Amino acid sequence: MASSGASAAPAGATPLNPGDEAQPGTPGTGENTCPACSGTGRVSNAPCQECGGTGVITEGIGGG
Ligand SMILES: [Zn+2]
Repeated sequence: MASSGASAAPAGATPLNPGDEAQPGTPGTGENTCPACSGTGRVSNAPCQECGGTGVITEGIGGG
């Protein structure tokens, strides 16, 4: 099959939200409630930019 079209992201790569510190599933990281929207996914009636509207962000887990 021929598919014509530009693919912006490489296969397998997930675009990170501004609030993410790492790709989901990265060892040493975990999901956390987005502090910008408190997990609602919305800020001021608009989708939260930090978490992309998911309400959660991926953060590194402190091993201390
Ligand atoms: Zn958010």
